[in-house]
Amino acid sequence: MDEYLRRLRDGTLKLYALEKELPPGNAVAIRRRFIEEEAGVSLDRIGDCSISLDTVVKKNCENMVGTVQVPVGVAGPVRVKGGYADGTYYLPLATTEGALIASVNRGCSLITAAGGADVRILKDGMTRAPVFATDNIIHAKEVCDWVIAHETEIKAEAESTTRFGKITGIEVTTAGTSVFVRFSFFTGDAMGMNMVTIASAKAAGLICQKTGARLIALSGNWCTDKKPAAVNLVMGRGKTASAGVLLTQDLIGKVLKTDVASLLEVNTRKNLVGSARAGSFGFNAHAANIVAAMFIACGQDPAHVVEGSLCMTTVDPAPSGVYVSVTLPALPVGTVGGGTTVETQAECLRLLGVAGSGDPPGSNARKFAEIVAAGVLAGELSLLGALAAQHLARAHSTLGR
Ligand code: NAP
Repeated sequence: MDEYLRRLRDGTLKLYALEKELPPGNAVAIRRRFIEEEAGVSLDRIGDCSISLDTVVKKNCENMVGTVQVPVGVAGPVRVKGGYADGTYYLPLATTEGALIASVNRGCSLITAAGGADVRILKDGMTRAPVFATDNIIHAKEVCDWVIAHETEIKAEAESTTRFGKITGIEVTTAGTSVFVRFSFFTGDAMGMNMVTIASAKAAGLICQKTGARLIALSGNWCTDKKPAAVNLVMGRGKTASAGVLLTQDLIGKVLKTDVASLLEVNTRKNLVGSARAGSFGFNAHAANIVAAMFIACGQDPAHVVEGSLCMTTVDPAPSGVYVSVTLPALPVGTVGGGTTVETQAECLRLLGVAGSGDPPGSNARKFAEIVAAGVLAGELSLLGALAAQHLARAHSTLGR
């Protein structure tokens, strides 16, 4: 170890190059020791890992020094009646936010007592939108026209890079001399960002060759990846999922300790009017809480919580009570690739019966999206109920501190 530390100190060995000379376990331990010495702190607990490092250092994490552990709890069982998820599930939630799991758990009990959450996938398409430069606005229009007229050719070019990815839509727009082409792909069970980026590069090459446009960036931000964006809210990104449940007055009284009128008023004034007044893209109470906790537990890309936060919660009056729903236009999820193979995250996917490839491909990712949507519905029900019953501060002071 001393020899490697000496070379790191004198700069003859780069920190990122340790894995080229050593097995992953040793490389990570030496890097951690070097950082401990440099910073004058102990990283003992970060070094206490239960996951195997071999693929993680190659595929998931550069300059690795260890792991941070996020507590995982379960909420449920929750009955889900989806097009892909049909059963009763315990939801894994990774969080350090006290009261969150208890709250989702209460929502799960309510949903199950009401007979289950209906869930449907309305749209499925991961997007990538390269930006091209053109000579002038006439050239920009010609490029758009060429793309629209040659969809079949572009599709064949893009799909030659993958066994699973299929183009399901191509949208074009311009801003002056900039042309944006937004490709939507079915990505099987992969969340699909790497897949669609590689496929879009191939398609972009063809567009440049045939139109004289210049590719400026493979991601032109009209995708839109990991930024709050109206395009995702309106047109969707990843899975668009809706979950809903009919609650009787009796259940609302017994479980949520409130009534129909209070629930309706809280949803209208907070989730709809309040969000509109704030210029928010999220018309919900705390969808991102459930999305973040399930994404972290299940090896999803946590930055996609931005898209997950674009949820609209509705409460409709019904003859016997209310129908509560959540619509998540942009849930980028996958059950293969990315962080899904890290052992602890793979265990959480197995808990839901969605690890790996589905049969047919895509069915596991859609099932997972439906379960996440049901979890969001549970979270919304519980928080709306707590607000309507004026219980929120009390629950947090008991559970959160
Ligand atoms: P990926 O790790 O690249 O996995 C996709 C691979 O899985 C492909 O090689 C695909 O085959 C294969 N595969 C095997 N079984 C499959 C099935 N049933 N369905 C679909 N594919 C299957 O993952 P990804 O989902 O494309 O990308 C996720 C990663 O992208 C995450 O780590 C995320 O953080 C990162 N990311 C990348 C960008 C970017 O711009 N590149 C942006 C944001 C996030 P084929 O080769 O035949 O397609």
